[in-house]
Order: sequence, then C-alpha cells, then structure tokens
Amino acid sequence: MAEKKPTATKRPEKRWIAETLFDDLGFRMTFQVERVLYELQTEHQHLVLFEQPFFGKMLMLDGATQISKKDEFIYQEMMSHVPLFAHGNPRDVLIVGGGDCGIAEEVLKHKTVERLTQVEIDPKVIEFAKEHFPEFTTPVFADKRFKSIIGDGAKYVAKTERRFDVIIVDSTDPQGPGKILFGQKFYAGCRRCLKKGGVLVTQNGVPFFQKSELTSSISKLRRLFAGATCYIAAIPIYIGGHMAMAMASDNKRLWRQPVHTIAQRYRKAGSFKTMYWTPEVQVAAFAQPRFIAEAVAKAAKPKRSGRR
Ligand code: SAM
Repeated sequence: MAEKKPTATKRPEKRWIAETLFDDLGFRMTFQVERVLYELQTEHQHLVLFEQPFFGKMLMLDGATQISKKDEFIYQEMMSHVPLFAHGNPRDVLIVGGGDCGIAEEVLKHKTVERLTQVEIDPKVIEFAKEHFPEFTTPVFADKRFKSIIGDGAKYVAKTERRFDVIIVDSTDPQGPGKILFGQKFYAGCRRCLKKGGVLVTQNGVPFFQKSELTSSISKLRRLFAGATCYIAAIPIYIGGHMAMAMASDNKRLWRQPVHTIAQRYRKAGSFKTMYWTPEVQVAAFAQPRFIAEAVAKAAKPKRSGRR
C-alpha cells in the first residue's frame, strides 16, 4: 500500500483587516493582523485594535485607520505643536475627539497650558486606550490640568461657558459620529467658544483622495473667521500623500510667522523632545503643493453674499 504522505499541517490563515475608507474610490489598504487586542461594536462605532507586524499597535474605527504606534508621533506632534506655537501663549486648550490621548500628551508638554479639556464621545475608546496606550493615557490622566468629558463635541461647543485659546478637532473622518464635526454648526460653535485671536485646527484627511473634505471645511471656516488655510504633513499610515490640517483664526498672521519666532517660543517652552515637528517644519508645513493651494484659495474666497 502506497506510503501515506504526511499532510503538511496547514498554517492557520493570517487574518487581514482592510481599511474601507476609500471603497467609493475603488481601493483598499489591508493590514496583516498579528493579534487582535480589542474588538467591539460600541454604541457609536466599530472599534478594532490589533498588533500589526510593521506598524505595531493599530486602531481602526469604522474601517478607517486612526493611529499606529509606528508613526503616531507625526500626526500627534503636528496637530498640537503647530497651533500652540502659532498662538504663542495658549492657556486654555480644547480637544474634540482625541480618545487615544496622544494629542493630549503633546499639548501638556506646553508649560503655558493651564487647562486642557478633552471631549470624547466614546468612553470605550478611552477605556481601551488606558489599557493599550498607557504611554499616552497615564501621564495625561495624572496631570491636574487635564479634564476628560464624555460627550458629543458638537453639543459641547454649542453650550459650554468655557472659552479657549486653541481648539484641536482630533476627530474621525466625516462618517458616523464624526460627521457632525465637519459641519457649519459645529464650526460656529467652535468660533463661539474661542477667545479673541484664538485658533481652530481640524484634521481634514488626505486631499489627494478627499479634496472635497478639505475644501468644504475651508469654505465653511472662511464664513466664520477672517482667515482659513491648511498645513500638511506626511503620515505613512494615512495613504495618499499629504495629510491636511485646516487652521482658522481672525489673526491671519498666525500662519505667516518666521522660523525665528517659532524657534524662540520653542526655546521658552523648554525645547522638549520631538521626532517630527521642528520650528522649520512648522513654517514649511504651510507651503502647500500647487494642487492643494489652488483648491484652498478657491474655497477660501469669501462667498459673494446675495445682497447688492
Ligand atoms: N488621531 C487619530 C486620527 O486622527 O486618526 C485618532 C483620532 S481619535 C481616535 C478620533 C476620536 O474622535 C475617536 O475616539 C472618536 O470616538 C471621536 N469622535 C468621533 N465623533 C465625535 C464627536 N461627535 N464628539 C466627540 N468625539 C468624537
């Protein structure tokens, strides 16, 4: 009788998780999963946290990549240090979203900051972040300046009596609970609770794929503020080239400051360690590639009101 060949033990198929944010454009980026650390359909969104061989811990919300351990420093530094050093003397800061607390950790490196409030809609994001991103959450929750509020950022800015120098909208993409954070009403709420000369920064996706997300935000912000523009950063995990962060303020000089001004403020803040942001990177980040500059300029043109 022919020898039975030992059947090779089939290695269990590795799970792959796809980013489905760009399904409407007809493509996906998929990530091999080493281990799923946390997966839940929360009251607000589908949340999966997993170990990825190259990117380390990765968080996805409703199929959109949020952060990866490998490159989170780029986004967290650019969403915090740029507005805070542009403002120059931020005392009261608000973060809308920001559940993983990566941005909060960067904001609290600024000694001028006296109070940091974070309004995050999903308590589960904070719960898992405390377990899996203690490097962010432990120092943040131990800092007396920090206050965490569970709630909808749009409702908060519409009602709060608090006033802020800087508002950072670290939201998901305009889908699910994050959709409201890209609307005119929310931006008007932010304007309402910004102090004179305050600055608003919002994450606005990757213009190469999501140009209308950026231009729609810019045109809405332009109706509320004297100026609205964007700055860019290269974030490997957000495919599609540059990521855009919109900035709006009545003080248009905020995005035209020279390197020596930002460098002086950085020295005064104690020149804490960064891995992407520098005073030069801050100034250069506002130099938009032409296709972005033209889209922003068109969107930022004040709308001719119907009145003669
Ligand atoms: N920094 C990463 C990025 O930009 O991809 C992560 C963003 S952070 C995880 C996005 C957070 O926004 C999520 O924790 C989500 O729960 C929260 N969020 C979405 N809609 C919100 C809303 N309306 N009010 C407050 N937080 C909201």
